[in-house]
Amino acid sequence: MSVRKIVKIDEDKCDGCGLCVTPCAEGAIEIVDGKAKVIREELCDGAGYCLAVCPRGALSIEEREAPAFDEEAVAEHISQAKPAAHEIFCYSCGKSEHEQALLPARIKGESLWVCTRCLPRLIHG
Ligand code: SF4
Repeated sequence: MSVRKIVKIDEDKCDGCGLCVTPCAEGAIEIVDGKAKVIREELCDGAGYCLAVCPRGALSIEEREAPAFDEEAVAEHISQAKPAAHEIFCYSCGKSEHEQALLPARIKGESLWVCTRCLPRLIHG
């Protein structure tokens, strides 16, 4: 155990929508009993890619004592993971995550995904 950054989930704000599950490349977040949970702390690297997609502001990064991030545990976990429950699409052109890299974005108060082709238009208008 050492002090490090890790995702914090405010269960009072979380409505269990599941939008934060897919962005986590390590598969550290699952919906358990209707709420998002970091299922094993050693799977969470604290990068925070999940934060931007939460429509309820339930996710943040905190610094506290936690087991060290474990890349080998992640590799094993990912190899056993079920396919993502739902595919995600670019809000602008509709391309799926299998056609184009997608990034989370907050747009006019909504948490949406944008593909790398549409991103420049979003930035430059
Ligand atoms: S995106 Fe936010 S509200 Fe939805 S499950 Fe994750 S933490 Fe809960």
